[in-house]
Amino acid sequence: MKAYYGEFGGQYVPETLMPPLMELEEAMDVHLADQTFQSELSDLLNNYAGRPTPLTLCPTLSKELGFTVRLKREDLLHTGSHKINNALGQALLAQKMGKTELVAETGAGQHGVAVATVAARLGLSATIFMGSVDVERQRMNVERMRLLGAKVESVSHGTQTLKDAINEALRYWIVNQKTVHYCFGTAAGPHPFPSLVRGFQSIISLEARDAYQKIIGRSPDMVVAAVGGGSNSIGAFAHFIPLVVDLVGVEAAGTGEEGCYNSAPINLGRPGILHGQRSMLLQTASGQVLPSHSISAGLDYPSVGPEHSYLHSIGRVRYGLANDREALEGFSLLARTEGILPALEPSHALGWLITNQAKIPPRSEVMVCLSGRGDKDLDIVLSHLDAIKN
Ligand SMILES: *Cc1c(COP(=O)(O)O)cnc(C)c1O
Repeated sequence: MKAYYGEFGGQYVPETLMPPLMELEEAMDVHLADQTFQSELSDLLNNYAGRPTPLTLCPTLSKELGFTVRLKREDLLHTGSHKINNALGQALLAQKMGKTELVAETGAGQHGVAVATVAARLGLSATIFMGSVDVERQRMNVERMRLLGAKVESVSHGTQTLKDAINEALRYWIVNQKTVHYCFGTAAGPHPFPSLVRGFQSIISLEARDAYQKIIGRSPDMVVAAVGGGSNSIGAFAHFIPLVVDLVGVEAAGTGEEGCYNSAPINLGRPGILHGQRSMLLQTASGQVLPSHSISAGLDYPSVGPEHSYLHSIGRVRYGLANDREALEGFSLLARTEGILPALEPSHALGWLITNQAKIPPRSEVMVCLSGRGDKDLDIVLSHLDAIKN
């Protein structure tokens, strides 16, 4: 299994983290290719999570934008986003490894809820680390996790957000590695997590490629997805990478003002090391990690999975930007034209399409990965209503 994507990736971790990472890699070799594992996972994905997800044609939105838009509906999955694809895969793998507990980090709480959910379903216990600032900001998701039987540990040092929650979860894993699996939430972190998570999220483009074949007899011209850590996007791109398809990842530009904090390490960062990986990273001239910002908590991460840094470096995927206002416009447009409230993360992909509308040839077939539903974001959207032009 390859640990590097070009110059990116690797395992920049303390010695004490190597045994569980190696155990995980060995378990992947044994179980992922196994028929029983794959059929148990398919059963959970289909009959518990709700796969396959539809590819929804958007007639009114398409008319307004001047090209054909279809949405890959990850928002319709159990718990409301693509995160369950990865959580189910890793939980099942942990069970096969004889682990009894899942540990996970969460920022907005979406990954924490997905892990608490699959832990309950598979009879595992769950411990979720969350920055104390996020515990305050995301009270409902904290309550959801507790109702599902998970323990939520508030992290009150450092930035008190996602970055430090990850550090704490890694420490917990080191200490309890005999019984615990670390269910990392995105296609980043030390090898083998980027390839593990990519594998579980690739179902998005596998289904989409087949659906496009059936519906229009060919692949789409363009696939657009929002990039946080990079899991829904790499999943939406994976099976299209070898084909002639224009792939666009959209990073969050924050408020878009000069010098503002953002969550766009590919566009605005440079290579560096964080959480065990070498990848594009938001940092100061002296290499201090910069705080990130986005209107959507799920994109709020100062780095990105290493494969994205690589795909950018070889020019295979384009990485665009959408700021908070553009994301809100994307949200509003989809709500009004198609009756779907998207999460603020994929709203960045929609916002990028609106801004770049004139550059996309008419009659193009464009797929947008609708990674999640918008219910979780209504408070934020309502507090910014004045920014949405109607
Ligand atoms: C977490 C999240 C994201 C961002 O994470 P990726 O790993 O980049 O996919 C995007 N959309 C939704 C709905 C999320 O919950």
